Amino acid sequence: MAGLATAGGLSRAGWQVTLLERGERVAASPTALVLWPNGRRALDSLDPDGGWRAIAAPLPDGGVRRPDGQWLVAPRTRHGAPGNGGPPPAVVHLEDLYDALVAGLGDRVEIRTGTTVTTVRTGKDGRPAVGDGRSEFEADLVVAADGIDSPIRRAVAPEAAAVGSGFAAWQAVIPAYRAPALPEEQAAGGETLGAGYRFVSIPLGDRATGRGGIYWVATAAGAPRPEPPATQLALLRRWFASWHAPIGVLLDATWPEDLLPQEVRELRPLPRTYGFPSGPGGVVLLGDAAHAMPHHLGQGACLAFEDAATLRALVVDAAPGPELRGAIDAYSRIRRPRTTSVVRQTRRMSAVVQARGRLALRARDAALTQLRPRLLNHLHTAPADWTPPD
Ligand SMILES: Cc1cc2nc3c(=O)[nH]c(=O)nc-3n(C[C@H](O)[C@H](O)[C@H](O)COP(=O)(O)OP(=O)(O)OC[C@H]3O[C@@H](n4cnc5c(N)ncnc54)[C@H](O)[C@@H]3O)c2cc1C
Repeated sequence: MAGLATAGGLSRAGWQVTLLERGERVAASPTALVLWPNGRRALDSLDPDGGWRAIAAPLPDGGVRRPDGQWLVAPRTRHGAPGNGGPPPAVVHLEDLYDALVAGLGDRVEIRTGTTVTTVRTGKDGRPAVGDGRSEFEADLVVAADGIDSPIRRAVAPEAAAVGSGFAAWQAVIPAYRAPALPEEQAAGGETLGAGYRFVSIPLGDRATGRGGIYWVATAAGAPRPEPPATQLALLRRWFASWHAPIGVLLDATWPEDLLPQEVRELRPLPRTYGFPSGPGGVVLLGDAAHAMPHHLGQGACLAFEDAATLRALVVDAAPGPELRGAIDAYSRIRRPRTTSVVRQTRRMSAVVQARGRLALRARDAALTQLRPRLLNHLHTAPADWTPPD
């Protein structure tokens, strides 16, 4: 996502871009993504005429509940446009978003799939060069948007390590043709917080152009499960069996092949800097390669789009040499504090979700009882208060 958004933003501004992807295709997993106002503003600034708007459905406000259905935050009090009345949050099917980003790449992007970057070095005149063991690609600017296990980050910022966050997550989209018809009061989906567990469901809307259905994501404190998807689905049904409707109905309507299980991981510590000037330009870290964090606030991709929008604004008119090197430094100066602050807020949310052992569970329940709706609301909306640089 981060790579596609950056490649499109730079190519539409006249840059010649080579996009290296290890997969045989540039393809998304069949899940969905919440675009908070900051992510929407970033995409807007990257591509004011972008087709992604046509595939974004409004995010209904389903509120936050306890497993017994009691409200922690009632609907219609969340998702208020932060600050100065920005765009409302939206949800997109990831495959739709990829299609829109690929369609907006323009003709200055050369896509090289099946290319796994393994090396980064300083080439001619200090220009950065990356390679896959067969070919080498030298450029004024190398954008490492290769996710949490980025080999480029490992080389330039070895202090940052990818570690488990203590959670496992399962995502699924129940396709529209077999999504259960839900009563009106359940149709908006919503978020439910239990002891060490969390369940979020979001309707993807009925869009002629998009892939509809119902998206859900379940989170549980603990290690990822080694069992096959069918067994994991059976486990999820058991764990969430006593939770309020329609969680059981959604899990029953999910097929094992819909399920995307994964370990939740993060970077600890974050890299000391996101910019590495070299020769006439240098290397920047962007998206999860720079600041992977748990998904509790749903901000990872939105921050990646912010990175891309900020980078584009800074480098777009910078000539290779001191100007481009200065832009790379400025990128890190702007993005590092911003992403550090969201990581901090995500960790507060992790503490709300996570609980292990009886004492911890009791402490967590007490904390939830005392948690003021405004605080929970603030955790969700504060990171969305961002505007792109001029
Ligand atoms: C359960 C869950 C729910 C989430 N929900 C949301 C949400 O609602 N909203 C939100 O904003 N964020 C959300 N996120 C976070 C979001 O998914 C990530 O932050 C986002 O995918 C990061 O994008 P990226 O492009 O930086 O990295 P990635 O998506 O990891 O992409 C990296 C790309 O680089 C390629 N690559 C990797 N290594 C190499 C290599 N060596 N050579 C060449 N190519 C390589 C990969 O194949 C891939 O295409 C969620 C995350 C999880 C786990």
